[in-house]
Amino acid sequence: MNEINVKDILIANNYRYNKALGQNFITDTNLLNAIVCDAKVSDIDTVVEIGTGAGTLTRAIAQKAKKVYSFELDKNLIPILDVSLKGFDNVEVVFKDVLKLRDDELESIVGENFKVVANLPYYVTTPMVMRFLESGLKVDSITVMVQKEVANRLVADCKSKDYAAISLAVEMYGSASITRDVNRKMFFPVPNVDSAVVRIDVERNKLVGVDYEKLSKLIRISFAMRRKMLTNNLMAGYGINRERATEVLRACGISESVRGEALSLEEYLKIYHEIYQ
Ligand code: SAM
Repeated sequence: MNEINVKDILIANNYRYNKALGQNFITDTNLLNAIVCDAKVSDIDTVVEIGTGAGTLTRAIAQKAKKVYSFELDKNLIPILDVSLKGFDNVEVVFKDVLKLRDDELESIVGENFKVVANLPYYVTTPMVMRFLESGLKVDSITVMVQKEVANRLVADCKSKDYAAISLAVEMYGSASITRDVNRKMFFPVPNVDSAVVRIDVERNKLVGVDYEKLSKLIRISFAMRRKMLTNNLMAGYGINRERATEVLRACGISESVRGEALSLEEYLKIYHEIYQ
């Protein structure tokens, strides 16, 4: 495919970046190809991209994938995309908000199995990741550029200072790793933070016989007041008394003075079974 200078196209179109939409673009071809490589995209894959921007990552994905559905909100990008995506017959840009589409609407556009690849708009990182993890959609993997500190949370285990409710949510649905760190200077406009690429390999029904909604509720409750002991969070969240909260933890062999942020997914599963059975 022909090389293009996207910055020149943006300038020629007098394009104004919309900060509120998280518009920090990347043009470095090596980095773009590396992200697609991290996502393990091949010619049998359908890819959903969130945030087409000027179409630079879209081009890199399209050179490897069978089909790309790229979602964007900003219609001011149309004249730029007309140039940058010219000749890419396997790309469809959809001007819709992925967060507002129902699963069946998204499925009717995209079809069944797909991979998500995106340089995410940072103001909606967590809802975007959760939207694809928690849905019934057939997502094989999610490879996303996010703020470095969010990346650390997505991959953290209970021994890490970055461990959070979202670390457990990711572990419930698959396994995650940071594939590369990316300096803020690789973006334009340059943001205030460094970034990293995270790949989550999704494993549907990883936890056999577990009601995911109830387990998610337990985790939400347990992290609600981070500095409080878990017993207090269980009491407040489930409306139970201290005696019952202590009894639950004792039955699981867990100290009653523990904080929610110190427990692994296995320990949460024990508490889940104790509470819901
Ligand atoms: N993929 C391009 C790149 O790597 O240079 C652009 C990435 S930029 C960080 C994020 C893009 O997502 C912006 O173009 C923004 O307009 C778009 N965007 C923001 N919110 C969105 C949403 N809810 N749905 C789809 N696109 C969105």
